[in-house]
Amino acid sequence: MIRGRFAPTPSGLMHIGNLCTALLAWLQVRKAGGRFVLRMEDIDKPRSRPELTKQIIDDLRWFGIDWDEGPDVGGPFGPYTQSEREELYQDALKKLLLEGWLYPCYCSRADLMSIASAPHGLESEGPVYPGTCRQLTETERMQKEAVKKPSLRFAMPDKPITFEDGIAGVKQIPPGAGGDFVVRRADGIIGYQLAVVVDDAAMGITDVLRGWDLLDSTPRQLLLYEALQLQAPRFAHVPLLYGPDGERLSKRHGSLAAASIRSKGIAPQRIVGRIGWLLSLIDSPEPMNPSDLIREFSLTKIQKHPIHLNEEDMKALTGEA
Ligand code: GLU
Repeated sequence: MIRGRFAPTPSGLMHIGNLCTALLAWLQVRKAGGRFVLRMEDIDKPRSRPELTKQIIDDLRWFGIDWDEGPDVGGPFGPYTQSEREELYQDALKKLLLEGWLYPCYCSRADLMSIASAPHGLESEGPVYPGTCRQLTETERMQKEAVKKPSLRFAMPDKPITFEDGIAGVKQIPPGAGGDFVVRRADGIIGYQLAVVVDDAAMGITDVLRGWDLLDSTPRQLLLYEALQLQAPRFAHVPLLYGPDGERLSKRHGSLAAASIRSKGIAPQRIVGRIGWLLSLIDSPEPMNPSDLIREFSLTKIQKHPIHLNEEDMKALTGEA
């Protein structure tokens, strides 16, 4: 049986783009008769706002999406909130440390900024870390340790990675692309890459469908699955939505926040139908429920390029032009 999930970070209000990703992840699971999991990714506590968890749950329910396991309904693989799963991440860290995959990095933010102009290995993943701290001697480490708490980085093995994405197709990533990444920050916070791998594996997720912005994270996650000897899921990365201003949807597009749409009394079916049509799942943007789209859903129908909302879409989605 397939198991899929939607894993929002409660750091901002959900917008139409998040609803679109959630809808597709839900459709994939419902079409296959699998189980759908909701997981709150609040591992980065300083960025998370606990009150948003309830808002996200309310927005998803309003939209017509349900889940079989989640923070509010529980389930056999709980808890479904990352801040309550710290022990699992610490166990994984220990295992990686013992097996020699990690090294402490003492570089400061300023050191990292100074390499910001280096060419990027993976788009959207920031500058490539040049591995400064990888080669430190024991003495150098001890000297640095006395003055600064380190982060822990995963030492990328020197081999290419190939994987097949359900929408983006076959991806071939050169050895070390993106550079060694942080799995635990200097302030002790576990990095997204590690937490998401530990959770997806522990929750038995077979199919990860998520936004295109995370495609570049996938090779890193595949390496973590391998290092932790865990079974990796299948991946499918869905296109992101862009506003009429040409910018990727974000907090700045306030009128496209689910909360704002709800407050205007716009019917969720109108949004579902428009999204289904923009995604080419249906031929006209008529209002419908998520369940009406199950029959129409197929990964093969989903395009690889970003979706640009025009003024007419904006009017339909927000009631304003
Ligand atoms: N929590 C991540 C986000 O909100 C998504 C993680 C994932 O789907 O892998 O962007």
